[in-house]
Amino acid sequence: SIHKHRIQLARGKRAEKEEQADIPVPTFSIIAPVYNEEETIPHFYERVVAVMEGLEKPFELLLINDGSSDNSYRVMCELHTRDPRVHVINFSRNFGHQIAISAGLDYASGEAVIILDSDLQDPPEVIPSLIERWKEGAEVVYAQRTRREGETKFKLLTARAFYRLIERITSISIPRDTGDFRLLDRRVVDALVTMREHHRFMRGLSAWVGFRQEAVPYVRHERFAGTTKYPLSKMIRFSLDAITSFSHVPLQLATSLGFMLAALSLIGILIAAILRIFTGAIVGQASTLTLVLFLGGIQLIFLGIIGEYLGRIYDEVRARPLYIVHDVLE
Ligand code: UDP
Ligand code: MG
Repeated sequence: SIHKHRIQLARGKRAEKEEQADIPVPTFSIIAPVYNEEETIPHFYERVVAVMEGLEKPFELLLINDGSSDNSYRVMCELHTRDPRVHVINFSRNFGHQIAISAGLDYASGEAVIILDSDLQDPPEVIPSLIERWKEGAEVVYAQRTRREGETKFKLLTARAFYRLIERITSISIPRDTGDFRLLDRRVVDALVTMREHHRFMRGLSAWVGFRQEAVPYVRHERFAGTTKYPLSKMIRFSLDAITSFSHVPLQLATSLGFMLAALSLIGILIAAILRIFTGAIVGQASTLTLVLFLGGIQLIFLGIIGEYLGRIYDEVRARPLYIVHDVLE
């Protein structure tokens, strides 16, 4: 498609430039989405660089500015002028966390790509153990949370429920309690960038592509500064994207529920008829009304579910680009 072609051009151009300038292709690309993290970015940079320099292999740090409205972009520009290993992709507006990660994958040129949040909840110090597994042959190394610090009870509870639900209703196995913190081999990245769906659940996609997947346990820290950029409304949208991308169970639920209700109503009719014949009783208005409302409710719920899928199909059919880039600091 046109879009895919454009992406390849962008990466091709970049590789060309690197060849001309005699810059070796980095072994590692670090991708971090940034949305209003002005306080954290300098610390994030320091810690990532400290860890990566210890590995003594060329690396690049790709920061994606997802339409920040604070000083984040200025801070990133400063880092870029100070350190040529820092690249910045500046979005024209806020496109969302999952899209920002996808843009990072489009631009990354490393042999292994590491995705982590820029709020320091994913400690950069875990990266060497991800890389260790990669060297041993794993192609997707996801960091699995054994503990989460400084999160609300509500977040922990909903996250837990979400992963259990996903596990039950999807056919692919998305590992429990993993975020987007992971290492991807070049082969996996090349597969992922061909998938241009708009409602992206990256954890699902990177499980869907297959390859050799392994887990590394870690403790998820508290945010360094600022507050979460995932309010409840975004969390709901995120979950709906995940479910609709990987499962048709909600749609199929209508069929099974329909059969069940039809069977129930048959029994109801029989009971009403028997009562009428033997006792002369007439089943009253109230129960009729309740049943009509009940059925109406169920039908509306399933119309809504169909709508969720339909809206997403519409988004895909329009085939707009995933994101618009304002400028890139290469
Ligand atoms: N983020 C982003 N775009 C958004 C929301 C978040 O790029 O629209 C980034 C944010 O800067 C952070 C990461 O995605 O580095 C995860 O977001 P957040 O920490 O708010 O989510 P939480 O950890 O609370 O689930
Ligand atoms: Mg966070």
